[in-house]
Amino acid sequence: MNHAKARAALLTLRTELAARHQRIDKHIGHRDEPLPSGRNDRAVELGNRETLEQLDEGAQLELAQIDHALDRIEAGSYGRCERCHRSIPRARLELLPYATRCVLCAEPA
Ligand SMILES: [Zn+2]
Repeated sequence: MNHAKARAALLTLRTELAARHQRIDKHIGHRDEPLPSGRNDRAVELGNRETLEQLDEGAQLELAQIDHALDRIEAGSYGRCERCHRSIPRARLELLPYATRCVLCAEPA
């Protein structure tokens, strides 16, 4: 995968994620509203908020990884494993454009 193509893929992903992040934030923004009075409604609402916050954390983490990958494109180190410095296989980058490690190094130690 060449760098121009990788950057385009990353920017598209970034736009999608930023939009998702905004949508989630909007939902979470309602948290100051009083909870529904019914006990079941209340439980559902609290559960929803928790799920949204987890989703948002995931989106933010992914955004950070994308930004990191974009930095690596600028630095010319994109596509190289951060740990073993071997090339990351193209198939992996196509699947996960912001991968910074090869499959072996990405495995939890
Ligand atoms: Zn590696």
